[in-house]
Amino acid sequence: MNSGGIYIETYGCQMNLVDSEIVLSLLEERGYHRVEQPERAEIVLVNTCAVREHAEARAISNIARFARLKKQRAGLRVGVIGCLSRHAASELERKLPFLDWILGPDVYRKLPALLAEPPRDRPLVLTHAPADELYDDVLPARRDGINAWVTISRGCNNFCTYCVVPKARGPERNRPGDSIIREIERAVADGFVQVTLLGQNVNSYRHRELAFPDLLARAAEVEGVKRVRFLTSHPKDCSPELLRVIAEHETICPELHLPLQAGSDAVLKRMGRRYTAAKYRKLVETARAIVPELLLSTDIIVGFPGESDADFRETEALVRAISYDDAFVYRYSERPGTRAALKYEDDVPLAVKTARLMRINEIVRGSGVRRRRAQIGRRLPVLVEGASTRDPHESMGRTPAGHVVVISETRSAGEEVPVRLTALAGRTLRGEVLDSVAASVDNS
Ligand code: SAH
Ligand code: SF4
Repeated sequence: MNSGGIYIETYGCQMNLVDSEIVLSLLEERGYHRVEQPERAEIVLVNTCAVREHAEARAISNIARFARLKKQRAGLRVGVIGCLSRHAASELERKLPFLDWILGPDVYRKLPALLAEPPRDRPLVLTHAPADELYDDVLPARRDGINAWVTISRGCNNFCTYCVVPKARGPERNRPGDSIIREIERAVADGFVQVTLLGQNVNSYRHRELAFPDLLARAAEVEGVKRVRFLTSHPKDCSPELLRVIAEHETICPELHLPLQAGSDAVLKRMGRRYTAAKYRKLVETARAIVPELLLSTDIIVGFPGESDADFRETEALVRAISYDDAFVYRYSERPGTRAALKYEDDVPLAVKTARLMRINEIVRGSGVRRRRAQIGRRLPVLVEGASTRDPHESMGRTPAGHVVVISETRSAGEEVPVRLTALAGRTLRGEVLDSVAASVDNS
């Protein structure tokens, strides 16, 4: 048994967050333990993201700082794991020759054995492993908190032309439903009251007879679970059946992250998204009809190759018409090896991309504030996540749909408190605590 300290730094999306917990679990089983500072570690691992050039550059410069530490600390070993390892292994090898390992997302089971091997003078590069790796039997080493992220699928079968994910994480693989439910039961037993199901496209989940709406319903019925959330929904696979399951279960949060990417059909077609603006709009109408409380958020890419002013105006108009609660807006970033990079020139100037990004952000800021303000006066259960960041005597939590609420009382994380929403400060709602859930929570 080893007893070395592992320091792990994670970039990118929640999938990487869970992968880091999986890696820690695999290593803790062998006697390693997590440390919070690289200076105290024997092993440093950096879990990287390749989705945009900016994320990649930031990761590379952050990894470079460990070269100095390695010189100072004899025996320290440094590995890069995650999407960048598979997407840009040779670049990492060239730019960061001091690394010990460059490992793709499917080879983490090899880590304990690799860590036990004697050091080498060059990085060991292992990017691919059996395509069926699911880490299905590995219980992630979760940190404290109220939420357990639970991966239901790995990889992606969509080939959105701009995206590195299918190449960096491989084809979609779905976990068996029973083991997902067992993991949720275990998380609840360990004190996590909220579960978030994760996949690049949860709506295409299917394992044998079990499709995503059935899995979600089963998750919602696990005893003791207070809230179930899920990410991400691809519009082409989001069915009315799924929306009905959300509406029928009180424990499923009325929330949908539904990436639009663009509002122009020509751009959507070049992106390979497989829906039109009209279809997306219809889907949002259906979703809001079935789940009236819905909190709707999205991702938008501005400045995709060939996006004209007229194309952008269509995105602008659609974003305004839909009136989102939140949006993540990105400037198109050309990723080597993707179909968009091969076929289209990255021809929208950076200044234009930035202006478009600011425009969409401004529209969504407006709709976000309007939609939050409309919540004032409502009585809702707020699930407390912890102390407010501004004032330790206040607590922060969320409404079922996911709006952030601050209350002027100290309550413990995981407690569900009946609250009347009283005001909006910036994007944060304020609320006053009511006496009893049964008497106070409205059903509108
Ligand atoms: N599977 C999820 C997440 C993919 S990455 C989904 O399909 O929504 C998260 C977001 O990053 C995407 O929705 C997209 O808006 C953005 N993104 C992906 N590739 C990008 C690129 N090359 N340039 C800019 N943004 C990108
Ligand atoms: Fe990338 Fe599209 Fe898959 Fe999302 S659905 S991970 S954007 S290829």
